[in-house]
Amino acid sequence: MPAKTGQEYMERLKRAKSSVYIHGEKVEDVTVHPAFCNVVRSMAALYDRQYEKPEKMLYRSPTTGQFVGMTFIQPTTIDELIARREATQEWARMSAGMMGRSPDYLNAEVMAMGVANDLFAEDDPMFAENAKNYYEYARENDISLTHTLIHPQMNRAKALHEQNDADVPLHLVERRKDGIIVSGIRLLATQGGITDEILVFPSTVKKSTAGEDPYALAFAIPNNTPGVKFICREAFDYGRSAWDHPLASRFEEGDAIVSFENVFVPWERVFVCGNSSICNRTFRETNAVIHMSHQVVAKNIVKTEFLLGVTLCLIEAIGIGEFQHVKDKGAEIMLVLETMKSHLYRAEHNAKRDRWGTMTPDFAALDAARNWYPRIYPRLSEIIRILGASGLMAIPTEADFHHEEIGDIVRRAMQGATVDGYERVQLFRLAWDLTMSAFGARQTHYEYYFFGDPVRMGMAYFDGYEKEPYQQFVREFLRGAKSVFIPSDSQR
Ligand SMILES: Cc1cc2nc3c(=O)[nH]c(=O)nc-3n(C[C@H](O)[C@H](O)[C@H](O)COP(=O)(O)OP(=O)(O)OC[C@H]3O[C@@H](n4cnc5c(N)ncnc54)[C@H](O)[C@@H]3O)c2cc1C
Repeated sequence: MPAKTGQEYMERLKRAKSSVYIHGEKVEDVTVHPAFCNVVRSMAALYDRQYEKPEKMLYRSPTTGQFVGMTFIQPTTIDELIARREATQEWARMSAGMMGRSPDYLNAEVMAMGVANDLFAEDDPMFAENAKNYYEYARENDISLTHTLIHPQMNRAKALHEQNDADVPLHLVERRKDGIIVSGIRLLATQGGITDEILVFPSTVKKSTAGEDPYALAFAIPNNTPGVKFICREAFDYGRSAWDHPLASRFEEGDAIVSFENVFVPWERVFVCGNSSICNRTFRETNAVIHMSHQVVAKNIVKTEFLLGVTLCLIEAIGIGEFQHVKDKGAEIMLVLETMKSHLYRAEHNAKRDRWGTMTPDFAALDAARNWYPRIYPRLSEIIRILGASGLMAIPTEADFHHEEIGDIVRRAMQGATVDGYERVQLFRLAWDLTMSAFGARQTHYEYYFFGDPVRMGMAYFDGYEKEPYQQFVREFLRGAKSVFIPSDSQR
């Protein structure tokens, strides 16, 4: 089957009838429910873009010859790596980088694990074969995916098997001839309920101990598998217009707790079963983390371009561009953008084929970027908040502009240096939705946490960094320093 269209994406969701819950009710059809219908349309637009720009978004499947999604490609040359990144950025531009889970993120993961699958064979060759087949299945059917890696926050000071109720975290219940039975809870599936399937994988950061083997699982199942429930948080799309809520009304992906009640997973969908050691190495040894980081850095460049654009429009709109600290804050965002672009350039131009033949970006460049961006993103949001000041609260809705008694008042009161009141409020509502609305606050939280806890990522980064050359540099410097001791008169 070739790459899917937006219509096909929506029809699959309709047919699947997965068990999705929100606001205390079960959702009959996510494609029309107010909490999901707008983001479903945005996802559909991404899939449609595959056919609007096929030269950029599609390539020929190596097995069927049909056109499949470019973001599934196993790049074997730098040109292909760049082509995949350009497809990612094409999608990212459609949401200004607000949809962290556009399908390319997990397509890269599935590709990497499907190709570099020998790690999974350590337990049984079947698992490696499963990973390979799943990549092919996902690519050929353009499967949209969510994923869940994290166990519930019960007591982080204890291991999973030491929790008061050790059956709450997702765990293995039974190995059967035809597959496994699993039960328990996982967090936090962004887009949970609006994709075809869910990947259940270990954390990219947190390592498991051998006592946690029953929790050490990796598998992929359709969202509508019996016993799977998506319990979604309150929606930040309040059903308001795109003028009033320019981002939340279109790109609110949602986040879900996922419950598994005696769920059957057939063996052909299992990649790791009860093996902490394999789980701990899954993302690194398959290079999946590298390909996912490539997508993330490419997406975040687009996102930073958008933040910079909003900041510059805001500065111009209220005539604050000549103030020194305003220029300085604008420069801060520019520096982030240029630095991120440099990371990407180095990652792509130093890319090398790995032992599975995949052209793999330079991880040092991407690892630095993926550790740094979560730390700097809150600052970018803060800059917009500082520069916007009262303008981020003096934000009448579009309806106010059309009200016969107050319409002229707000138009006049809200005028800017270069824009009329209507245009200025539209811009400032965008800046507010980007940074301060529930949607905007989630964006900051998302960028900080989605790849894992930045503190523990930083600890792992520090531990893994090759420090010796720098220490050696200093030791040699000290050895080479000649004593210039000059005795004082009394010492002579
Ligand atoms: C908006 C959003 C979307 C997300 N989407 C997804 C998704 O789609 N799929 C998915 O799998 N996950 C998703 N996540 C979850 C994300 O992976 C986790 O938030 C992240 O890994 C941190 O884990 P945690 O939330 O369990 O924090 P915890 O591990 O509970 O940490 C809480 C606090 O305690 C500290 N802490 C805890 N343990 C330690 C320790 N051992 N050492 C030092 N400090 C510690 C942390 O630094 C942190 O400050 C999402 C998160 C957010 C916020």
